[in-house]
Amino acid sequence: MKKTVLLTVAVLALLSCNKIVTPEETEVKKPKNIILMIGDGTGLSQISAAQYFGKTPSNYTRFPITGLINTSSESDLITDSAAGATAFASGIRTYNGAIGVDVDTTKVQNMVELVSQKGMQTGLIATSSITHATPACFFAHSKSRDFHEEIAAQLPTSEINFFAGAGLQYFNKREDGKNLLDDFSENGFSIDTLKLEAMPNAKKAGYLLADKSMPKAMEGRGNFLKDASLLAVQRLSQNEKGFFMMVEGSQIDWGGHDNDAPYLISELLDFDSTIGAILDFAEKNGETLVVVTADHETGGFTLASDGDDYNSIQPTFSTHGHSATMVPVFAYGPGAEIFSGIYKNSEIFHKIKTLLQE
Ligand code: MG
Ligand code: ZN
Repeated sequence: MKKTVLLTVAVLALLSCNKIVTPEETEVKKPKNIILMIGDGTGLSQISAAQYFGKTPSNYTRFPITGLINTSSESDLITDSAAGATAFASGIRTYNGAIGVDVDTTKVQNMVELVSQKGMQTGLIATSSITHATPACFFAHSKSRDFHEEIAAQLPTSEINFFAGAGLQYFNKREDGKNLLDDFSENGFSIDTLKLEAMPNAKKAGYLLADKSMPKAMEGRGNFLKDASLLAVQRLSQNEKGFFMMVEGSQIDWGGHDNDAPYLISELLDFDSTIGAILDFAEKNGETLVVVTADHETGGFTLASDGDDYNSIQPTFSTHGHSATMVPVFAYGPGAEIFSGIYKNSEIFHKIKTLLQE
């Protein structure tokens, strides 16, 4: 008798240990708003650079939860930004170059399409063209990241409520002669091509502030990324059913491709300060989940010693391309705890999906 009871207790204990825990069962809090921040090409050395080269403490250190993701794509061990962003936006692994399509080029639903059905508003901010691979995966479906005009044509009728970035030429100086600025106004958008200024009366707001890319942080971009993010938050947080927003530090990757440490580090510090502003909002708001990660690492960047001088850092690169190293994930706010651990890039989408409020 005693033996049976003990055995039952032991079995129960074993069962409870092995049980798969879902967010519902552990009563993980669900956020009202979700902000996904992607530092394109940002591996651990890039993030570490903020601690050595920043003038203020790095905002990355403010996150209570960290994880790591494997970033491979379906076609290659080393992903590009298109497959990387499709993994985040749609929860699938696909081929390098794919924008919101599966390996057989069929369209896959993205996070923006999903959350807009729930009444959430949506925003996109990038320092590249808004048609560039990373932001494109959140509103477009295309066989190739190179089809900028095809991607641009999908933005006016998408479920995006706010966007800011560059790429004006793909809307108004097109090879097909169309002027998509007209399509925007037909679909309720007010577009500013000159400056980042609030448009409180606009139904939807878009900012296309340069022909191709925003200037480098080193060359006068100012606080565009932070200011646009705060402008978006101001607008979108008025929505009763919450919002989803993706903010990209696009050019950290470009500094890596160029093997240009000052370019990379200045872009990283700009992204870091934007993270700070977003965290300040999230701390006050209390209902916002902030997830910061990267699509992949770029440049095989390291913070090497300068020869035998262990008190001097010589930023060093090992490739002009991307690398296969895992990249960190940082999370803050309701539901943040489910982002700890080591998992695939596409899981970011599925984790966010389980946290969406019914
Ligand atoms: Mg990008
Ligand atoms: Zn890249």
